[in-house]
Amino acid sequence: MPIEDIIRRDIVLKPLTTMKTGGPASYFAEPSSEEEILELLDYAKKNSLEVFILGNGSNVIADDDGFDGLVIKIGNNMSDIKVESDTNDSEYMFITAGAGCLLSKFGNTAASEGLEGAEFACGIPGSVGGAVFMNAGAYGREISDIAVSVRFIEEGEVKDIEVNKDMFGYRTSYFVNNGRIVTSLRARLKKGDKDAIDAYVKELRDKRTASQPLTVPSCGSTFKRPEGYFAGKLIQDSGLKGFSLDDSGAEVSPKHSGFVVNNGGTAGSKDIIKLIKYVQNKVYEDSGVKLECEVRFLGGKKE
Ligand SMILES: Cc1cc2nc3c(=O)[nH]c(=O)nc-3n(C[C@H](O)[C@H](O)[C@H](O)COP(=O)(O)OP(=O)(O)OC[C@H]3O[C@@H](n4cnc5c(N)ncnc54)[C@H](O)[C@@H]3O)c2cc1C
Repeated sequence: MPIEDIIRRDIVLKPLTTMKTGGPASYFAEPSSEEEILELLDYAKKNSLEVFILGNGSNVIADDDGFDGLVIKIGNNMSDIKVESDTNDSEYMFITAGAGCLLSKFGNTAASEGLEGAEFACGIPGSVGGAVFMNAGAYGREISDIAVSVRFIEEGEVKDIEVNKDMFGYRTSYFVNNGRIVTSLRARLKKGDKDAIDAYVKELRDKRTASQPLTVPSCGSTFKRPEGYFAGKLIQDSGLKGFSLDDSGAEVSPKHSGFVVNNGGTAGSKDIIKLIKYVQNKVYEDSGVKLECEVRFLGGKKE
């Protein structure tokens, strides 16, 4: 099948992001294999199209005017998950998951197999690929704690590398550079007590539900945690908990000041970004701390 057959035109990004904002991508495709990704990259190069890799859209603010390039969404079509024994050590198992697999499914699979260490992943609404790219984490654990190897595409080649902690940082990774596209993750997890694992998953889920505005569109924590501080606390100390500049729907969550939310789903990205900048300026004025965005931008200005 020619690769053009899987490319669609003018696909609105709003439903594909958890912030529920964003205009159309001029070109859009959901590949089913590494080969199709390579063909899409080739197509983009021949047609001078900028490429953006989209996972589950849970950390992306897409421009209201959309993106005049090719969005490659790595989702359901590349979401196989496989559990295997570690033949060198019977205490451990491997889980290999396609980049499009939901991180929650990855975490729940580990829990249902009685494997510990991926409980943190159950409540993060990203894909495995996005989680590797961002080194997603919560409650003291992150992807780099469990990742052993990653398959990815770089400069037209599929590569498979062993990974180590040095290749990851706080909400960043080796894969952020040089246009690397993650296609699958292999993680190694220790066998544990299934009841204790299930109880821990539930405990973390309850904590999240109690402290985060999970029913309102957002990208989770808008800002990275500044060294020595908590973004939410700084924002609260600046009197911005529940703050909004206008009635667009863009709001600092009254439940968690670290989340800029799209209350009612009525705000555009421009409203969200205006509020983000306001919060950054006010917190800087009050505390001297610069809040850096954890969210990433699709299209538009990249500041
Ligand atoms: C309610 C809520 C709670 C959240 N809680 C947490 C949390 O506890 N901890 C945490 O770390 N994050 C959290 N997040 C943020 C988000 O879920 C994570 O950053 C997640 O890892 C993003 O994955 P994604 O698939 O949605 O990526 P996307 O949002 O689609 O993309 C994010 C970035 O990753 C890149 N990317 C995506 N897939 C690939 C790929 N296969 N190869 C290369 N690059 C890729 C994109 O180009 C983009 O730059 C939360 C978000 C929400 C909405």
